[in-house]
This record gives sequence, structure tokens and C-alpha cells, in this order.
Amino acid sequence: MKATRRHGEHKHGNSKRFVPPVLVRLIIVEAETMQTEFPTPKRVLFITAHPDDTEFSSGGTIARWTEAGTEVIYVIVTDGSKGSNDPEMTPERLARIREEEQRAAARVLGVSEVVFLGYTDGEVYDTLDLRRDLVRQIRFFRPDLVVTFDPTARFFGSGRINHPDHIAVGHTTLAAVFPLARDRLNFPEHEREGLRPHRVLDVFLVGSNEPNFAVDITDTIERKIEALACHRSQIGSREELAEYIRQRARLMAEGTPYEYAERFRRIVLPG
Ligand SMILES: [Zn+2]
Repeated sequence: MKATRRHGEHKHGNSKRFVPPVLVRLIIVEAETMQTEFPTPKRVLFITAHPDDTEFSSGGTIARWTEAGTEVIYVIVTDGSKGSNDPEMTPERLARIREEEQRAAARVLGVSEVVFLGYTDGEVYDTLDLRRDLVRQIRFFRPDLVVTFDPTARFFGSGRINHPDHIAVGHTTLAAVFPLARDRLNFPEHEREGLRPHRVLDVFLVGSNEPNFAVDITDTIERKIEALACHRSQIGSREELAEYIRQRARLMAEGTPYEYAERFRRIVLPG
């Protein structure tokens, strides 16, 4: 095994860092079309699956937004109650711990509000109830930009399968953005609650196999690491976490002028 791997590294050039060939190919293709002009909308709504998804995918971008005066709000669909291998842990206790960790991480990044919808971790589907709940959040907060998961990413390269909750949340959020929140006859009970239809024209997708947008997080990566370190039930040592995050962000910055970046698939709808 060892000999084969060394042989492979020699064959692919002098670089000491091992980069899987599939990533190299993606970076070269994407470098030509990557957009970088950072938008600063009035209000951004994140709709994600688990406590820590926002910080892992976008912590540096969130810090940039809040520093620029953009109001950032999180809607977390599940309670995160399955993310532990501790034999003493119960789902109820874990959900409480993770909510506290998420609120602490949000404070580090200057996030204004965190909403927990309380769905069970690992059991998210594109249901009418979830559609109704997400449309209600969009009509209530009226964001200029929504961030969620790319639901088309079923797997990444040849070594990672995407979490089904991410796919379900991304899929349902896109349905909520278009057309459900926009058209008043969807969920007419919202009108009786005093909520008006709302049109979202700008969407950032995280965890995409087809990113077209890079955000420079060179100045905010330390805040991202600080926020992620709040998720103590999910991480090992802070040093290992910091190294992993820097490595990842360096890879995301390949083909851009930045040292560290986060990447998204951006969709801008016609007004
Ligand atoms: Zn997640």
C-alpha cells in the first residue's frame, strides 16, 4: 500500500500536498467562471439542517456580512440530536447542548437571531409541513438573500456521501423560495397570520459540486475557527480543527487571488 501511494505522488509531480485528481480537475474548470464581487444585502437568511452547518460552510462569509452591517439570521431545521458516539448521551440532552453551542457560535459571528424548527436529526423529508414552515420563515424575515444546501450534490468526488438532511433541506428551501413564498395562494393561512408573500432573488448554495462564486475569507478565517470551536460536542482539539479549516479554505481559494476562501453556487433570479 505504502509503496503504491509513494509511486503515485512521484508520478503526479513535486507538490508535497496530496490533492485528489478529481479536485484538481474541478478547480481548473471552475477557475474560468468563478465570480467574486461580494454582495452586501440588508438581510440574509440561512436555512440549514444541523447546528454547525452554517459555521462549517460559511463562517468566514457570515463574519464578513455582519462586519459590513448585513443582518444575518439562522433557521436550523433539526435538533442535531444524533451527532454523538458517547454511550452515555441521550438525544434530549444532546439537542440541548447543541442548541447552546449553536447560539454561542452565532454570537461570535454577530448573527442577530437563531430559530430552531426542532425536526428530528436524520429524519428530514420534503414534506408539506416543512414547506409550510420554511415559507413562513421566509415571509416573516423577508430576506434579500437566502443561503442553503445544493440539493443536487448526492456525493462529493469518490469519497464522501452528502447527508440526506442537507439534501432534503436544500431541496425544500429552494421550493419555498420559488415559487411557494412568492405566490399568495400557497399556504393562505399565512395571510391570516399577517404575513405577506415575499420574493427572494438571490440564493447562495453551500456544499455544491458546481460552485461559481468565491468569497475571500482571509481576514475572517480566525473568527470562523473561533465560532466552530463553540461546537465542543462535535470537534476534537482546537489545533486540529484550525488546521483542517485552513487547509480546506486554502483549497477553496485555488484559482482566486485569495489566501483563504469559501465557495458557493450562486443563483440570481430575474426581478
Ligand atoms: Zn449537517
